[in-house]
Amino acid sequence: MLIPLIGMLFLLLILLYAFVWKKAALQPVSSFPVKYPNDKNKALEKDWYDVAIVGSGPSGATCGYFLGKLGWKCLLLEKKKFPRDKYCGDAVCKTAIELLQEMGIYEKLLKENKAHVADSGGLCSPGGLSYVGRSKEEYGEIPAAIACKRIHLDEAIAMAAKRMGADLKEECAVSSAVFNKETGLWTIKLEESDQQFRARVLVCADGAPSRLATQLGIVSRPPDSISSRAYVEANTHKFKADGLVFYPKDLLPGYAALFRHPGDELNYCVYIIPGNPKCTTETLPHWHDHLMKSDPNISRALGPDFKIERMKAASLRLGGEKRSFDNHVIVVGDAAGMIDPMTGEGIHHAMDGGKLSALFLDEALNHGNYDKEVMAIYHQRWMDKFGSDFKWSMVFCQLLYRFPILLDAATMAIHRKGDKFLVRWADIMTGRVPKINMLRPEYSVTITFELLRLLLFRLIGKSPVKEKKN
Ligand SMILES: Cc1cc2nc3c(=O)[nH]c(=O)nc-3n(C[C@H](O)[C@H](O)[C@H](O)COP(=O)(O)OP(=O)(O)OC[C@H]3O[C@@H](n4cnc5c(N)ncnc54)[C@H](O)[C@@H]3O)c2cc1C
Repeated sequence: MLIPLIGMLFLLLILLYAFVWKKAALQPVSSFPVKYPNDKNKALEKDWYDVAIVGSGPSGATCGYFLGKLGWKCLLLEKKKFPRDKYCGDAVCKTAIELLQEMGIYEKLLKENKAHVADSGGLCSPGGLSYVGRSKEEYGEIPAAIACKRIHLDEAIAMAAKRMGADLKEECAVSSAVFNKETGLWTIKLEESDQQFRARVLVCADGAPSRLATQLGIVSRPPDSISSRAYVEANTHKFKADGLVFYPKDLLPGYAALFRHPGDELNYCVYIIPGNPKCTTETLPHWHDHLMKSDPNISRALGPDFKIERMKAASLRLGGEKRSFDNHVIVVGDAAGMIDPMTGEGIHHAMDGGKLSALFLDEALNHGNYDKEVMAIYHQRWMDKFGSDFKWSMVFCQLLYRFPILLDAATMAIHRKGDKFLVRWADIMTGRVPKINMLRPEYSVTITFELLRLLLFRLIGKSPVKEKKN
């Protein structure tokens, strides 16, 4: 009698907490007192900016684009000069494509042959089962993904932001930012230059190392992981698909991938995802080299004569930071950990977060309050939109690491159900549909059924699937 009663009470407390917490978190910007009345257009008359964005990658430049569009005086500081490279798998998912379309960049990238639409793609499971399907018919006008080198993509977004009115300043590496409580303004200082800038609000969009947000005490941990990239020369390989994800058992929950660029060039990447003690930042060069030469599926896809450039690598900050705000400052993109811990992909979240941050800042600037409590609403919004799903990614990563057979079963399910199921799987993997959806019967029952079939096949020593390639 007492135990169910305590259980009920506990449940009630959780519901009460969730309700009160949600209510507090969803307080609108307008409910906070106005601290800077008539701030709108003030910056235009003065020597300071409404917003200064540090870093013009996909997150910072998208934020700059939408702030410019909304009419704010916005500074976009980038330490490199465009066009500049960024080590990446170059797979740009549907959410990012939609934003590129909105910014008027997508068609141009395709027309200039700087992006390749991924139609045929799939996966290769730890047990060596593979499926390559087609998605164009299912997706219609906007594909699941394109491959676009960052040297083209990032320049295109930055220039779009500039056209929209953001004051883009290249070769401006920010060294520090100091906030003055009296004036309510930031002073942003540069490395190797005495030039300084002032702004009402600061946006840290300086990528996975997140140096500025760390310096300001908002982010307190180093990046979690690392990934490699190397381009494979055109006409030296045997790869026929547009994109393929390989899950070698020893690399789980990490994976390797091949993506096709225009002109038959390939991007070969290896993602180290935390959770496997044998796969660490230090061991990345080993995995990168070992898999392309010795993994039967990857080496078959590359063929015997492929020519590949030297491995490049960069860090990943996964799963979302606990805090991405403080007084008059927010953190966006990789700097805030907006990378899916299951895939290591973050361009779409960086751009989505960039737009979301601009819309939020528009509200805050119009209202005239940038206190910590107001900036917390921004954090809550991106958590609600995609960040809170990262915890499920982490759970599924651990499941796949411990039970690689689940990926074999999922591949069997895709095999049996065909391209429609592949597309739905891709939607989950690319963050279009929350990962929690994997628990829906549509997936969980199907995969459990395939798991039982797989175990049976293994018991009788037969192959569960016939190789099917479209
Ligand atoms: C090897 C690898 C493969 C990946 N593959 C994929 C993939 O296939 N698909 C995908 O979606 N994601 C992928 N990602 C993740 C993706 O690269 C990031 O999520 C994305 O770049 C985040 O964009 P961002 O604008 O937040 O940061 P970044 O792209 O890192 O941009 C940060 C910008 O800030 C600038 N900057 C830094 N410090 C300063 C400073 N002090 N002053 C001024 N400017 C500064 C930098 O020069 C840079 O331009 C991969 C990552 C890696 C490392």
